[in-house]
Amino acid sequence: MSVAEEFTALYGYEPAGVWAAPGRVNLIGEYTDFNEGFVMPLALPHTAVAAVARRDDGILRLHSADVEGPVVELAVSALEPLSDSGGWAAYPAGVVWALRAAGHPVGGADLHLASTVPTGAGLSSSAALEVVTALALRDLYQLGLSRRELALLAQRAENEFVGVPCGVMDQMASAACEPGRVLHLDCRDLSVRQVPFDLAAHGLRLLVVDTRVKHELGDGAYAERRAGCEAGARALGVSHLRDVPHAELPAALDRLADDRVRRYVRHVVSDDHRVERVAALLDAGDVRGIGPVLTEGHASLRDDLRISCPELDLAVEAAGAAGALGARMTGGGFGGSAVVLVEAAEAEAVTKALHTAFAQAGFPPPRVFEAEPSRGAHRLS
Ligand code: ADP
Ligand code: MG
Repeated sequence: MSVAEEFTALYGYEPAGVWAAPGRVNLIGEYTDFNEGFVMPLALPHTAVAAVARRDDGILRLHSADVEGPVVELAVSALEPLSDSGGWAAYPAGVVWALRAAGHPVGGADLHLASTVPTGAGLSSSAALEVVTALALRDLYQLGLSRRELALLAQRAENEFVGVPCGVMDQMASAACEPGRVLHLDCRDLSVRQVPFDLAAHGLRLLVVDTRVKHELGDGAYAERRAGCEAGARALGVSHLRDVPHAELPAALDRLADDRVRRYVRHVVSDDHRVERVAALLDAGDVRGIGPVLTEGHASLRDDLRISCPELDLAVEAAGAAGALGARMTGGGFGGSAVVLVEAAEAEAVTKALHTAFAQAGFPPPRVFEAEPSRGAHRLS
Protein backbone atom coordinates (compact mmCIF):
# COMPACT_ATOMS: atom_id res chain seq x y z
CA MET A 1 0.00 0.00 0.00
CA SER A 2 1.17 3.52 -0.75
CA VAL A 3 1.38 6.13 2.00
CA ALA A 4 -1.74 7.79 0.54
CA GLU A 5 -3.64 4.48 0.58
CA GLU A 6 -2.55 3.88 4.17
CA PHE A 7 -3.84 7.35 5.05
CA THR A 8 -7.22 6.50 3.51
CA ALA A 9 -7.40 3.17 5.34
CA LEU A 10 -6.49 4.87 8.62
CA TYR A 11 -8.62 8.02 8.55
CA GLY A 12 -11.46 6.93 6.23
CA TYR A 13 -10.99 9.59 3.54
CA GLU A 14 -8.35 10.56 0.98
CA PRO A 15 -5.42 12.88 1.81
CA ALA A 16 -5.21 16.32 0.21
CA GLY A 17 -1.67 15.59 -0.93
CA VAL A 18 1.56 13.69 -0.41
CA TRP A 19 4.92 15.32 0.33
CA ALA A 20 8.50 14.03 0.73
CA ALA A 21 11.56 15.39 2.54
CA PRO A 22 15.00 13.72 2.56
CA GLY A 23 17.52 12.87 5.23
CA ARG A 24 20.99 14.31 4.70
CA VAL A 25 24.64 13.51 5.07
CA ASN A 26 27.32 16.12 5.64
CA LEU A 27 30.15 15.94 3.10
CA ILE A 28 32.53 18.21 5.04
CA GLY A 29 32.44 20.85 7.81
CA GLU A 30 31.95 19.30 11.26
CA TYR A 31 31.35 21.23 14.51
CA THR A 32 31.72 24.35 12.39
CA ASP A 33 28.02 25.33 12.48
CA PHE A 34 27.92 26.75 16.01
CA ASN A 35 31.19 28.54 15.30
CA GLU A 36 29.28 30.41 12.55
CA GLY A 37 31.39 28.71 9.89
CA PHE A 38 30.62 26.54 6.86
CA VAL A 39 29.01 23.15 6.28
CA MET A 40 28.33 21.20 3.10
CA PRO A 41 25.49 18.67 3.29
CA LEU A 42 23.72 16.79 0.50
CA ALA A 43 20.24 15.31 0.50
CA LEU A 44 19.95 11.52 0.57
CA PRO A 45 17.65 9.55 -1.72
CA HIS A 46 15.98 8.36 1.50
CA THR A 47 12.88 10.37 2.41
CA ALA A 48 10.11 10.80 4.91
CA VAL A 49 6.85 10.70 2.95
CA ALA A 50 3.72 12.19 4.50
CA ALA A 51 0.10 12.06 3.33
CA VAL A 52 -1.69 15.00 4.89
CA ALA A 53 -5.09 16.69 4.94
CA ARG A 54 -5.96 20.03 6.44
CA ARG A 55 -8.63 20.23 9.12
CA ASP A 56 -9.85 23.40 10.72
CA ASP A 57 -11.39 22.12 13.96
CA GLY A 58 -8.25 22.50 16.06
CA ILE A 59 -7.42 18.78 16.04
CA LEU A 60 -4.07 17.32 14.99
CA ARG A 61 -3.89 13.58 14.32
CA LEU A 62 -0.50 11.94 13.72
CA HIS A 63 0.46 8.42 12.72
CA SER A 64 3.69 6.77 11.58
CA ALA A 65 3.85 3.48 9.69
CA ASP A 66 7.27 2.96 11.28
CA VAL A 67 6.23 3.16 14.93
CA GLU A 68 4.00 0.72 16.80
CA GLY A 69 1.02 2.38 18.37
CA PRO A 70 -2.27 4.15 17.74
CA VAL A 71 -2.97 7.51 16.13
CA VAL A 72 -1.78 10.34 18.38
CA GLU A 73 -4.53 12.95 18.75
CA LEU A 74 -3.72 16.44 20.06
CA ALA A 75 -5.52 19.78 20.33
CA VAL A 76 -3.41 22.40 18.52
CA SER A 77 -4.27 25.11 21.06
CA ALA A 78 -2.98 22.91 23.88
CA LEU A 79 0.44 22.12 22.32
CA GLU A 80 3.14 22.77 24.92
CA PRO A 81 6.93 22.64 24.45
CA LEU A 82 8.72 19.73 26.17
CA SER A 83 5.41 18.18 27.16
CA ASP A 84 6.39 14.76 25.75
CA SER A 85 3.37 14.71 23.46
CA GLY A 86 3.69 11.09 22.42
CA GLY A 87 7.42 10.47 21.75
CA TRP A 88 8.05 10.67 18.00
CA ALA A 89 4.88 12.76 17.53
CA ALA A 90 6.66 15.68 19.20
CA TYR A 91 8.54 16.32 15.93
CA PRO A 92 5.50 16.98 13.69
CA ALA A 93 3.51 18.45 16.60
CA GLY A 94 6.45 20.79 17.28
CA VAL A 95 6.26 22.06 13.71
CA VAL A 96 2.58 22.90 14.14
CA TRP A 97 3.43 24.62 17.42
CA ALA A 98 6.29 26.59 15.83
CA LEU A 99 4.10 27.70 12.90
CA ARG A 100 1.37 28.87 15.28
CA ALA A 101 3.89 30.54 17.59
CA ALA A 102 5.14 32.50 14.55
CA GLY A 103 1.56 33.67 13.91
CA HIS A 104 0.57 31.30 11.11
CA PRO A 105 -3.07 30.18 11.25
CA VAL A 106 -2.64 26.39 11.29
CA GLY A 107 -5.94 25.01 12.54
CA GLY A 108 -5.19 21.29 12.53
CA ALA A 109 -4.34 18.37 10.24
CA ASP A 110 -4.45 14.63 9.75
CA LEU A 111 -1.04 13.18 8.92
CA HIS A 112 0.26 9.72 8.17
CA LEU A 113 3.90 9.13 7.29
CA ALA A 114 6.44 6.49 6.42
CA SER A 115 10.17 7.08 6.17
CA THR A 116 13.10 5.31 4.55
CA VAL A 117 15.64 7.49 6.41
CA PRO A 118 17.46 5.27 8.94
CA THR A 119 16.80 6.64 12.43
CA GLY A 120 19.56 7.46 14.87
CA ALA A 121 22.32 6.89 12.26
CA GLY A 122 23.23 10.56 12.15
CA LEU A 123 21.34 10.96 8.86
CA SER A 124 18.70 13.29 10.23
CA SER A 125 15.52 11.30 10.12
CA SER A 126 14.20 13.90 12.57
CA ALA A 127 14.76 16.83 10.20
CA ALA A 128 13.11 14.88 7.37
CA LEU A 129 10.06 14.42 9.58
CA GLU A 130 9.93 18.10 10.55
CA VAL A 131 10.52 19.46 7.07
CA VAL A 132 7.96 17.20 5.38
CA THR A 133 5.39 18.36 7.94
CA ALA A 134 6.32 22.02 7.50
CA LEU A 135 6.15 21.84 3.70
CA ALA A 136 2.78 20.06 3.71
CA LEU A 137 1.28 22.62 6.11
CA ARG A 138 2.76 25.51 4.12
CA ASP A 139 1.02 24.24 0.99
CA LEU A 140 -2.26 23.30 2.67
CA TYR A 141 -2.52 26.62 4.51
CA GLN A 142 -0.94 28.65 1.67
CA LEU A 143 1.55 30.19 4.06
CA GLY A 144 3.94 31.60 1.46
CA LEU A 145 7.02 30.67 3.49
CA SER A 146 10.45 30.32 1.85
CA ARG A 147 12.49 27.15 2.22
CA ARG A 148 14.82 28.95 4.57
CA GLU A 149 11.88 30.06 6.73
CA LEU A 150 10.55 26.49 6.76
CA ALA A 151 13.96 25.22 7.87
CA LEU A 152 14.16 27.78 10.67
CA LEU A 153 10.67 26.88 11.90
CA ALA A 154 11.56 23.18 11.80
CA GLN A 155 14.73 23.88 13.78
CA ARG A 156 12.73 25.88 16.32
CA ALA A 157 10.37 22.90 16.68
CA GLU A 158 13.30 20.58 17.44
CA ASN A 159 15.11 23.08 19.74
CA GLU A 160 12.21 24.39 21.75
CA PHE A 161 9.38 21.85 21.43
CA VAL A 162 11.28 18.55 21.35
CA GLY A 163 14.21 19.96 23.35
CA VAL A 164 17.15 18.96 21.10
CA PRO A 165 19.72 21.78 20.72
CA CYS A 166 20.59 21.17 17.02
CA GLY A 167 21.88 23.71 14.51
CA VAL A 168 19.95 24.51 11.32
CA MET A 169 22.08 22.49 8.86
CA ASP A 170 19.87 19.40 8.86
CA GLN A 171 16.65 21.31 8.22
CA MET A 172 18.27 23.54 5.58
CA ALA A 173 19.64 20.48 3.79
CA SER A 174 16.31 18.68 3.84
CA ALA A 175 14.46 21.80 2.67
CA ALA A 176 16.84 23.31 0.12
CA CYS A 177 19.15 20.69 -1.46
CA GLU A 178 19.05 20.05 -5.19
CA PRO A 179 19.85 16.84 -7.09
CA GLY A 180 23.44 16.59 -8.32
CA ARG A 181 24.45 19.39 -5.95
CA VAL A 182 25.91 19.78 -2.50
CA LEU A 183 24.70 22.71 -0.40
CA HIS A 184 27.31 25.21 0.73
CA LEU A 185 25.79 26.79 3.82
CA ASP A 186 27.22 29.79 5.63
CA CYS A 187 26.04 29.30 9.20
CA ARG A 188 26.54 32.99 10.00
CA ASP A 189 23.96 34.49 7.65
CA LEU A 190 22.39 31.23 6.36
CA SER A 191 23.23 32.13 2.78
CA VAL A 192 23.41 29.07 0.54
CA ARG A 193 25.10 28.15 -2.69
CA GLN A 194 24.35 25.05 -4.77
CA VAL A 195 27.76 23.54 -5.65
CA PRO A 196 27.92 20.99 -8.52
CA PHE A 197 28.35 17.43 -7.22
CA ASP A 198 27.18 15.22 -10.06
CA LEU A 199 28.85 11.98 -9.04
CA ALA A 200 27.30 9.81 -11.73
CA ALA A 201 28.57 12.12 -14.49
CA HIS A 202 32.11 11.71 -13.12
CA GLY A 203 31.90 7.93 -12.74
CA LEU A 204 31.98 8.21 -8.94
CA ARG A 205 29.87 7.08 -6.00
CA LEU A 206 29.51 8.37 -2.46
CA LEU A 207 28.94 5.55 0.02
CA VAL A 208 27.48 6.01 3.46
CA VAL A 209 28.72 3.51 6.03
CA ASP A 210 26.32 3.34 8.96
CA THR A 211 28.35 1.68 11.72
CA ARG A 212 25.14 1.04 13.67
CA VAL A 213 26.92 1.88 16.91
CA LYS A 214 26.37 4.80 19.26
CA HIS A 215 28.87 5.15 22.12
CA GLU A 216 27.64 6.72 25.33
CA LEU A 217 30.77 8.85 25.49
CA GLY A 218 29.00 11.12 23.02
CA ASP A 219 26.42 12.31 25.50
CA GLY A 220 28.37 15.10 27.18
CA ALA A 221 30.99 15.51 24.46
CA TYR A 222 29.06 17.92 22.25
CA ALA A 223 28.58 20.44 25.06
CA GLU A 224 32.21 20.01 26.10
CA ARG A 225 33.54 20.66 22.57
CA ARG A 226 31.20 23.61 22.21
CA ALA A 227 32.37 25.15 25.48
CA GLY A 228 35.99 24.58 24.43
CA CYS A 229 35.41 26.37 21.12
CA GLU A 230 33.78 29.30 22.92
CA ALA A 231 36.74 29.47 25.28
CA GLY A 232 39.05 29.52 22.25
CA ALA A 233 37.11 32.36 20.62
CA ARG A 234 37.23 34.38 23.87
CA ALA A 235 40.96 33.81 24.25
CA LEU A 236 41.53 34.98 20.67
CA GLY A 237 39.27 38.01 21.02
CA VAL A 238 36.76 37.02 18.30
CA SER A 239 33.02 36.49 18.61
CA HIS A 240 33.23 33.09 16.86
CA LEU A 241 36.04 30.89 15.53
CA ARG A 242 34.77 31.64 12.02
CA ASP A 243 36.57 34.95 12.41
CA VAL A 244 40.03 33.38 12.70
CA PRO A 245 41.47 33.42 9.13
CA HIS A 246 43.11 30.15 8.15
CA ALA A 247 46.32 31.97 7.20
CA GLU A 248 46.60 33.23 10.79
CA LEU A 249 45.97 29.82 12.39
CA PRO A 250 49.61 29.10 13.43
CA ALA A 251 49.89 32.49 15.16
CA ALA A 252 46.48 32.01 16.82
CA LEU A 253 47.49 28.56 18.11
CA ASP A 254 50.65 30.06 19.64
CA ARG A 255 48.45 32.34 21.72
CA LEU A 256 46.47 29.48 23.26
CA ALA A 257 47.84 27.98 26.46
CA ASP A 258 45.36 25.14 26.87
CA ASP A 259 46.22 22.14 24.69
CA ARG A 260 42.61 20.97 24.53
CA VAL A 261 41.34 24.38 23.38
CA ARG A 262 44.21 24.59 20.91
CA ARG A 263 43.20 21.27 19.34
CA TYR A 264 39.54 22.32 19.06
CA VAL A 265 40.49 25.65 17.46
CA ARG A 266 42.81 23.91 14.99
CA HIS A 267 40.01 21.53 14.01
CA VAL A 268 37.35 24.20 13.51
CA VAL A 269 39.50 26.70 11.60
CA SER A 270 41.03 23.99 9.39
CA ASP A 271 37.64 22.33 8.74
CA ASP A 272 36.13 25.66 7.66
CA HIS A 273 39.07 25.93 5.28
CA ARG A 274 38.50 22.37 4.06
CA VAL A 275 34.90 23.28 3.18
CA GLU A 276 36.21 26.13 1.07
CA ARG A 277 38.81 23.88 -0.56
CA VAL A 278 36.18 21.24 -1.39
CA ALA A 279 33.86 23.91 -2.82
CA ALA A 280 36.68 25.29 -5.00
CA LEU A 281 37.61 21.81 -6.27
CA LEU A 282 33.99 20.98 -7.09
CA ASP A 283 33.52 24.34 -8.83
CA ALA A 284 36.57 23.50 -10.93
CA GLY A 285 35.10 20.06 -11.79
CA ASP A 286 37.83 18.20 -9.88
CA VAL A 287 35.56 15.84 -7.93
CA ARG A 288 38.30 13.25 -7.42
CA GLY A 289 40.47 15.96 -5.91
CA ILE A 290 38.25 16.23 -2.83
CA GLY A 291 39.14 12.69 -1.70
CA PRO A 292 42.32 13.58 0.22
CA VAL A 293 40.59 16.60 1.78
CA LEU A 294 37.88 14.33 3.19
CA THR A 295 40.48 11.96 4.66
CA GLU A 296 42.40 14.89 6.13
CA GLY A 297 39.14 16.04 7.74
CA HIS A 298 38.78 12.65 9.38
CA ALA A 299 42.25 12.85 10.90
CA SER A 300 41.34 16.24 12.35
CA LEU A 301 38.14 14.88 13.91
CA ARG A 302 40.02 11.85 15.26
CA ASP A 303 43.17 13.54 16.57
CA ASP A 304 42.18 17.15 17.33
CA LEU A 305 38.48 17.15 18.15
CA ARG A 306 38.66 13.51 19.33
CA ILE A 307 35.10 12.55 18.51
CA SER A 308 35.75 9.44 16.39
CA CYS A 309 35.59 5.84 17.61
CA PRO A 310 37.19 2.51 16.58
CA GLU A 311 34.33 1.62 14.19
CA LEU A 312 34.54 4.96 12.33
CA ASP A 313 38.35 4.85 12.19
CA LEU A 314 38.19 1.32 10.82
CA ALA A 315 35.64 2.32 8.18
CA VAL A 316 37.92 5.12 6.96
CA GLU A 317 41.06 2.97 7.06
CA ALA A 318 39.53 -0.08 5.40
CA ALA A 319 37.92 2.05 2.68
CA GLY A 320 41.26 3.72 1.97
CA ALA A 321 43.11 0.41 1.89
CA ALA A 322 40.53 -0.96 -0.57
CA GLY A 323 41.14 1.92 -2.98
CA ALA A 324 38.63 4.59 -1.97
CA LEU A 325 39.55 8.14 -3.03
CA GLY A 326 38.80 9.52 0.44
CA ALA A 327 36.67 8.95 3.53
CA ARG A 328 35.67 10.60 6.77
CA MET A 329 33.31 10.18 9.66
CA THR A 330 30.30 12.48 9.39
CA GLY A 331 28.01 13.99 12.00
CA GLY A 332 28.39 14.25 15.75
CA GLY A 333 30.77 11.32 16.16
CA PHE A 334 31.17 8.45 18.67
CA GLY A 335 29.34 6.22 16.19
CA GLY A 336 26.88 6.96 13.42
CA SER A 337 28.11 7.06 9.85
CA ALA A 338 31.12 7.66 7.61
CA VAL A 339 31.16 8.84 3.98
CA VAL A 340 33.41 7.24 1.39
CA LEU A 341 34.17 8.58 -2.11
CA VAL A 342 34.88 5.79 -4.59
CA GLU A 343 35.22 5.15 -8.30
CA ALA A 344 31.88 3.69 -9.41
CA ALA A 345 33.69 0.54 -10.59
CA GLU A 346 35.23 0.09 -7.12
CA ALA A 347 32.06 0.57 -5.07
CA GLU A 348 31.31 -3.11 -4.74
CA ALA A 349 34.87 -4.10 -3.82
CA VAL A 350 35.11 -1.33 -1.21
CA THR A 351 31.75 -2.36 0.27
CA LYS A 352 32.97 -5.95 0.53
CA ALA A 353 36.24 -4.85 2.12
CA LEU A 354 34.30 -2.85 4.73
CA HIS A 355 32.19 -5.87 5.66
CA THR A 356 35.29 -8.07 5.90
CA ALA A 357 37.18 -5.56 8.06
CA PHE A 358 34.23 -5.13 10.44
CA ALA A 359 33.78 -8.90 10.75
CA GLN A 360 37.49 -9.40 11.45
CA ALA A 361 37.42 -6.71 14.15
CA GLY A 362 34.36 -8.33 15.77
CA PHE A 363 32.19 -5.27 15.09
CA PRO A 364 28.52 -5.52 14.09
CA PRO A 365 28.10 -5.54 10.29
CA PRO A 366 27.84 -1.98 8.92
CA ARG A 367 25.01 -0.89 6.65
CA VAL A 368 26.55 0.45 3.44
CA PHE A 369 24.48 2.33 0.88
CA GLU A 370 24.91 4.82 -1.91
CA ALA A 371 24.17 8.50 -1.35
CA GLU A 372 23.21 9.92 -4.73
CA PRO A 373 22.93 13.72 -4.15
CA SER A 374 19.16 14.09 -4.19
CA ARG A 375 16.32 16.56 -4.21
CA GLY A 376 15.20 18.55 -1.18
CA ALA A 377 11.62 18.56 0.12
CA HIS A 378 8.92 18.49 -2.54
CA ARG A 379 5.29 17.66 -3.18
CA LEU A 380 4.71 14.21 -4.70
CA SER A 381 0.99 14.45 -5.47
P1 ADP B 1 18.51 11.24 13.53
O1 ADP B 1 17.81 12.53 13.22
O2 ADP B 1 19.98 11.35 13.43
O3 ADP B 1 17.97 10.08 12.75
P2 ADP B 1 17.32 11.75 16.07
O4 ADP B 1 17.46 11.13 17.40
O5 ADP B 1 17.55 13.20 15.93
O6 ADP B 1 18.22 10.91 15.06
O7 ADP B 1 15.85 11.51 15.54
C1 ADP B 1 15.29 10.20 15.57
C2 ADP B 1 13.87 10.29 16.09
O8 ADP B 1 13.01 10.90 15.09
C3 ADP B 1 13.25 8.94 16.35
O9 ADP B 1 13.59 8.48 17.65
C4 ADP B 1 11.77 9.26 16.23
O10 ADP B 1 11.28 9.88 17.41
C5 ADP B 1 11.76 10.29 15.13
N1 ADP B 1 11.53 9.63 13.84
C6 ADP B 1 12.39 9.51 12.82
N2 ADP B 1 11.84 8.81 11.78
C7 ADP B 1 10.60 8.48 12.19
C8 ADP B 1 9.51 7.75 11.58
N3 ADP B 1 9.63 7.21 10.37
N4 ADP B 1 8.38 7.63 12.30
C9 ADP B 1 8.27 8.17 13.52
N5 ADP B 1 9.24 8.83 14.13
C10 ADP B 1 10.39 9.00 13.49
MG1 MG C 1 18.14 14.34 14.32
